[in-house]
Amino acid sequence: MPAPGELTFVAPRGAAKPPRHLADLTPDERRAAVAELGEKPFRARQLSRHYFARLADDPAAWTDIPAASRERLAGALLPRLMTPVRHLSCDDGATRKTLWRLHDGTLVESVLMRYPDRVTMCVSSQAGCGMNCPFCATGQAGLDRNLSTAEIVHQIVDGMRALRDGEVPGGQARLSNIVFMGMGEPLANYRRVTGAIRRLTDADPDGVGLSQRGITVSTVGLVPAMLRLADEGFSCRLAVSLHAPDDELRDTLVPVNTRWKVREVLDAAWRYADRSGRRVSIEYALIRDINDQAWRADLLGRLLKGHGAHVNLIPLNPTPGSKWTASRPEDERAFVAGLEAHGVPVTVRDTRGQEIDGACGQLAAAERE
Ligand code: SAH
Repeated sequence: MPAPGELTFVAPRGAAKPPRHLADLTPDERRAAVAELGEKPFRARQLSRHYFARLADDPAAWTDIPAASRERLAGALLPRLMTPVRHLSCDDGATRKTLWRLHDGTLVESVLMRYPDRVTMCVSSQAGCGMNCPFCATGQAGLDRNLSTAEIVHQIVDGMRALRDGEVPGGQARLSNIVFMGMGEPLANYRRVTGAIRRLTDADPDGVGLSQRGITVSTVGLVPAMLRLADEGFSCRLAVSLHAPDDELRDTLVPVNTRWKVREVLDAAWRYADRSGRRVSIEYALIRDINDQAWRADLLGRLLKGHGAHVNLIPLNPTPGSKWTASRPEDERAFVAGLEAHGVPVTVRDTRGQEIDGACGQLAAAERE
């Protein structure tokens, strides 16, 4: 019998910490980690360049590092964080969803979308989500755990590598945009998500060297975190999932609204716009007979008018078991017209990836054979 305190216990799924990875560390921390291994500090720059700029996490390709050091550095700083379980494509190959298994068995998804003029990657910031929005598949299963910075970064690094190597239908391409619109609420995992943004935007060799302009953080409206993002000087695009202009309905559609009301969420969004100099996007899933009435379009238009916001209307992607569906075409048209009457720019988003459950709100990372 083990003595009390020595009892071995089985960690609940998702409880084990992901292994430390180069992408979790700042450039200074990387130098310290390399030195701790008895290696020259400049190896940190070499490793960073291989991972972030050359997208090469296979030690065999690191020819500027002595063979004896490669395995040691790889083992300590580039552990395998995740394995693709499968890729699913649709829209003639233009949309490709990847299901990832993390080191502890947790499943997450990312989606690559090719357009004639750009490639967008939709990434997950958490496994599952704790926000519980009733129309969203991810929200129904609850939160598994936060992703680490490196688990977020690696979804993108691997997507960039696959595009470069021509593994994605349509031939070689470069990534142009990243949207935090996969699984999870990015601002509920603030430190790791902003760490990932820094890794992605730091210049070569410290990071991938992308521009914050091409990165969108989408939030249910966690006001303190929105203000922090503004105060810390980020300039990525902010998207706010509003879905209703009135508190009564928004309390149901986005339950965190019972904590931070429409007014406060929009004020925080305008503060971010002010600080960052970026226009805020307002996400609005059009749900038939729930939030698509002309009076709601009018109220939304009045709230947004003059703030430079852009509205993205998303026809609801039905999720399993939901009684809700997308708006009728005539109601969608009237909603657009209602916003335009106030001079508010609006686009209706295409619903890429529907048949592979890869469209907005459909990511559930279910293992289906
Ligand atoms: N948690 C973040 C980001 C993830 S979802 C957020 O809520 O913003 C990205 C967008 O897809 C959000 O605007 C979300 O409300 C929307 N969405 C969720 N489920 C959807 C569905 N079934 N149909 C259409 N859009 C949906």
